[in-house]
Amino acid sequence: MRIELVPSTVGEQAAKQFCIAALVNDSLAIDAGTIGMLWPFERQLQIQHVFLTHSHVDHIASLPLFLDSIYQPGPTCPAVYACPATVKCLREDVFNDRLWPDFIRLSAEESPFLKLQTLTSETTVHLPNMTVTPVALNHVVPTMGFVVQEENCAVGFVSDTNRTDRIWEVLAQVNNLKAVFLECSFPDSHRWLADKSGHLCPELFAEYVRQLPASVKVITTHLKPCFFNQITDDLNRLQLPNVEIGVPGQCYEF
Ligand SMILES: [Zn+2]
Ligand SMILES: [Zn+2]
Repeated sequence: MRIELVPSTVGEQAAKQFCIAALVNDSLAIDAGTIGMLWPFERQLQIQHVFLTHSHVDHIASLPLFLDSIYQPGPTCPAVYACPATVKCLREDVFNDRLWPDFIRLSAEESPFLKLQTLTSETTVHLPNMTVTPVALNHVVPTMGFVVQEENCAVGFVSDTNRTDRIWEVLAQVNNLKAVFLECSFPDSHRWLADKSGHLCPELFAEYVRQLPASVKVITTHLKPCFFNQITDDLNRLQLPNVEIGVPGQCYEF
């Protein structure tokens, strides 16, 4: 399985990710913060499935642009998967003809822009050569983590979340778990903010990492840019084996 954290900077490629998206095998996106900015453009055309964790703008920012840019009249279009609360937000707050044309209504009337699919926690979606299992997390709006599985490899995506148990119970049962992309949004000095905004800080992050088998790699995501150095300092102090700071633009092979 090949995973890329999609960069979100113009000009130089930066270590900081302002909006959130990851590509799996080039054709599946976890979140859509930056997929509408991908270059070369052919890379956008390769994306067939978009799984949204939740409705916050850092995770959906470029979805309207992406769907607009790749649209060609015809029967095929990307499938967008989201939990009921995120689907409601897309219908009412994004594709409402004010913020952006109502691609959902147009998709019913004309050649489709997107196929919207509703996710249920712990109901697996079967794709060719891959399955995706959403698991509810604990954030300020309903949010899904994902377990993406191929025949001999599984990877977890856990963001955005504060304290949560179920995803870790599910991941503990997964065969061939190779890696978890886990959010760590704030430094320990801002744990109050992490708690209030439904995120993790290194101390909490470490509790979950220590429960994983040593063979599972943990890659950080969602570090708030202003706190990037403090978060990485905190993480280094914890000396967690197998933890890497996620690098936008880097390809991870598992
Ligand atoms: Zn969020
Ligand atoms: Zn976020």
